[in-house]
Amino acid sequence: MTQYPKELLTLIAYLKKLPGVGRKTAERFAFYLLEWPQDEIKKFSTQLETLQEKITPCETCGCLKDGVSCAFCDPKTRDSSLLCLVSSARDVYAIEETKAFKGLYHVIGGLLSPLEGRSIEHLALNKLERRLSHHPIKEAIIALDSTLEGDATALFLKQKLEEFKIPATRLAFGLPMGSSLDFVDYGTLEKAFQGRQVF
Ligand SMILES: [Zn+2]
Repeated sequence: MTQYPKELLTLIAYLKKLPGVGRKTAERFAFYLLEWPQDEIKKFSTQLETLQEKITPCETCGCLKDGVSCAFCDPKTRDSSLLCLVSSARDVYAIEETKAFKGLYHVIGGLLSPLEGRSIEHLALNKLERRLSHHPIKEAIIALDSTLEGDATALFLKQKLEEFKIPATRLAFGLPMGSSLDFVDYGTLEKAFQGRQVF
């Protein structure tokens, strides 16, 4: 059993909470941080401390914003007749990178997963319903992972969109089964967007 000092063990435990970081990597990071100059450590910790205050989700679309106005909701630059439904604010950046979409976004905040106990109540549906009933939308594009959870959520959203008589399309072409939007390269995602199909 490794006898690291207690403070170091605590740091390692925190680092291990990050996705993809196992014990060995966390230990390596912790030792690396020990060597960092004091002022860098200070800046880093202030950054972490204030991150959630400085970056907040937009009240309308759920995308991240670091000021008062949301760049993704700007009517001057975005086509408000198109609405793209994504599971997390992070997916928006991947889609923006493809430059294949200039409409609005709506972050639903997760995917349905009965196995992990994530049901309809976990999705930001009230906001979505309010939006669908107040704004004329020509097409809603469901841009969710090509996984069982993504499929289940897409089906649910499709029914919701039908209630509001909004035609739905879903990214299909080029997205391999079982793939998460996080891991798809931009070229494939762009093709998936352009080849979206009526759903
Ligand atoms: Zn917004």
